[in-house]
Amino acid sequence: MTIFISMCLCVNHVVTTPAAARPRDISSEYYPENLLSAKTFRVPTSLPSLCVRKGRSVAELTAIAPDLSGLIVILSSIASKKSVDVLGGSLVKVFDGGLLISLFVDYTDSGLSPEGIEHSLGGIGVVESLSVNGALAKGVAVNSHMFPLMMGDKRAVVFAVDYFCDMMEHLRERLGEAANALLYDMGHKYGEAFARSLRTETSLTGDELVRLSLAEVQASGWCVLENYQADANKMVWRLSVKELFECSKRRPGASVNRSHFFRGFLSGLFEEAFGLVNISCVETLCQANVADACDFALWV
Ligand SMILES: [Zn+2]
Repeated sequence: MTIFISMCLCVNHVVTTPAAARPRDISSEYYPENLLSAKTFRVPTSLPSLCVRKGRSVAELTAIAPDLSGLIVILSSIASKKSVDVLGGSLVKVFDGGLLISLFVDYTDSGLSPEGIEHSLGGIGVVESLSVNGALAKGVAVNSHMFPLMMGDKRAVVFAVDYFCDMMEHLRERLGEAANALLYDMGHKYGEAFARSLRTETSLTGDELVRLSLAEVQASGWCVLENYQADANKMVWRLSVKELFECSKRRPGASVNRSHFFRGFLSGLFEEAFGLVNISCVETLCQANVADACDFALWV
């Protein structure tokens, strides 16, 4: 499990604060070209909700520090106990300005109990509160603070892609082709609402709003944008994405493209961004079949 807020020196002009505490502050330093930068650092990120380590002693350690200095002290204290392995966690700014850090730790090699770890760290004056929640079962710990999950100022929920794809497949088995039309319609509605909200927040429109939206869905784990081409005069767009959640189950030899929700999302997004109606969107190549990416074409 990776730490949710990675301590790296990668500065993006658009997102300069940790995702877990991300205020939707698009500053004057906003540069659309950075959204498609090939230099962007990417790492698989685990939502710090559940930690499973079979046969190991794991716990959730939570501390509230009044400021960054206090947080560094508690992290240094944990780091000094070399037998305590930090597996991942989250950092959130709480209401009074303090910082809450929640970490999953593997303390098997320390020989300590959860109470022992809490006691050994508890004497640090810069920490307002510290608690160690032991495992639910051997090798299983859960985050007890992370609710509700937020994306910007909106509440969000997370589904596992495999389960979501299974649900879509089940829908196709029940409804046949009608299921694809339904998914397209749902995606279209989502794309409209998504673009409208982002436009209200940023005042961006057109191509810039599309680029920002695609960057945001990438940050939400939907897919990785590989290529985006726009012909503003002809009102024609092409884009290519990889690892799209809808098409993540590879089926070599299949000839049917799998994306219906996302192509609906794109049509709704582009309509809202450009103030148009009836934008068509087709998936011309699909990674679920034999292609390296899912390619989409849009036109008025
Ligand atoms: Zn596809």
